[in-house]
Amino acid sequence: MAASKQPAVGIDLGTTFSVAACLDAAGHPQTLVNAEGERLTPSVVLIEDDEVVVGKEAVKAMGTDMAHVADCAKRDVGQRTFHKPLGGRPYPPEAIEAWVLNKLRLDTQKLIGAYQKVVVTVPAYFDEVRRKATQDAGYIAGFDVMDIINEPTAAAVAFGFQRGFLAEGGTSRQRLRILVYDLGGGTFDVTVMEITGRDFVALATDGDVRLGGRDWDQRLVDCVAEDFVRKHGVDPREDPNVEGRMWRECEDAKRTLSVRSHALITSEFGGHVARLDMTRAQFEEMTLDLLERTAFTTRQTLQAAGLDWSQIDRILLVGGATRMPAVVRMLRELSGQDPDQSVSPDEAVAHGAALHAGLLLARHAGQAPRFQIRNVNSHSLGVVANDPQTSQLRNAILIPRNTPLPADARRIFKTHKRGQKSILVQIVEGESAAPDDCAPVGRCSVRDLPADLPAQTPIEVGFRYLDNGRLSVQVKVAGTNTRLEHEIMRENSLTTDQLNSWRKYVSGLPPVARVISDGVAAP
Ligand code: ADP
Ligand code: MG
Repeated sequence: MAASKQPAVGIDLGTTFSVAACLDAAGHPQTLVNAEGERLTPSVVLIEDDEVVVGKEAVKAMGTDMAHVADCAKRDVGQRTFHKPLGGRPYPPEAIEAWVLNKLRLDTQKLIGAYQKVVVTVPAYFDEVRRKATQDAGYIAGFDVMDIINEPTAAAVAFGFQRGFLAEGGTSRQRLRILVYDLGGGTFDVTVMEITGRDFVALATDGDVRLGGRDWDQRLVDCVAEDFVRKHGVDPREDPNVEGRMWRECEDAKRTLSVRSHALITSEFGGHVARLDMTRAQFEEMTLDLLERTAFTTRQTLQAAGLDWSQIDRILLVGGATRMPAVVRMLRELSGQDPDQSVSPDEAVAHGAALHAGLLLARHAGQAPRFQIRNVNSHSLGVVANDPQTSQLRNAILIPRNTPLPADARRIFKTHKRGQKSILVQIVEGESAAPDDCAPVGRCSVRDLPADLPAQTPIEVGFRYLDNGRLSVQVKVAGTNTRLEHEIMRENSLTTDQLNSWRKYVSGLPPVARVISDGVAAP
């Protein structure tokens, strides 16, 4: 790996905190500090008329200028716009994420020189649309995203590295099954992986894109606000800036409760002050259902992998919220074993991404790979088809969830009527047979079919699902030369023109000639 001139950089683009890491001359991952000298950068953006501020300073503005602050944009990725306008203007979530990435780019370039190639991580549970949007955020920020990799896989790679599995020469061929439990600020992910020497294989994955430390904070904020209402008859949540300050206070108290048995939370509103002494026991009780949700998903994922706890060698804790003692206790009770806390829960993901970046750069330079990653898909992929028996629309699944990637699948559909001029292929992601209950991934249409095509002409739809969870689609019409490839019109995704103008705006860099990974060339 050391042979490549370009730095191998991995970025953990988190819901609440982001981290960049790079391989040093010896090929070891090191966290790169930001301009403030810190290892973690809050994924918070303050957008004012004349300037955009990212990180710690933007967090401070949460107490005074909430109308211009965007946080947790990752939770909205895949939607058309961020859930709240900023200063009256709507923004796409990928542009907000791009500002975070752009800060990391500018800050880290001061340390390691100019670079563009990176690996960015995503929750394993992210669907195709969110993966594409994450890649787009990287592009807007002025990066060339070589690959996106699943966060639990990255954490497992960092763990394997630390254990010496990736060392040159000798490597253990012993099989190790690990369960990665990742509870971050906004997302929860659980993945069962098998490491055999340098082979990292995901067996099953599941999660919740709307569950994380933020929900624990929310319970505290609500509890403090209700206490305030009882004492003073007014609700401090009415003022967004006061609520912003309460968030900061409560998040801080939550951290205190990880190491102490109680924490004092003070709030001020409308000339009144209230103090609440929160005990760890109370806090754990009011958040028990959240923890239980993670336990449920963990049990389910283990089952999906066809394993029981006696077959799991290690439980790996990732994500800042796993520092809550209740998490460790719950997992101990569930599994009968002590979770492994040997990797840094904040940095392991970025370190694994940097190792993966090193692998890709080495491969580009023609060197033999030092390790190998194999993933499964986290959601079933299908197309919307008319069921001839019921005449109802139905999700015809082509690639079921937890299929090893890359995966290919094809299926034959038939045209409806004679002389049909076009076909619309709608791609959906989800487990339900009803298309409305699934997430739309995109559509592609085949136009200008030959005249007089008979009814029931076979149409072959093929999916190719890559290791990084990105999808390409081919459509072939029997008896014609009509073949369509790679042209998925995605719902809610930015057009090439929009991407390029955001890129100029956010990173100040011009569009580059590049091939977006689904094969559509950008100008
Ligand atoms: P993400 O990857 O989603 O951005 P992180 O893995 O950085 O998240 O974890 C951030 C979450 O961890 C936040 O909700 C933060 O409050 C929480 N957290 C960090 N340290 C502690 C701690 N000592 N005790 C409890 N929660 C913590
Ligand atoms: Mg994370």
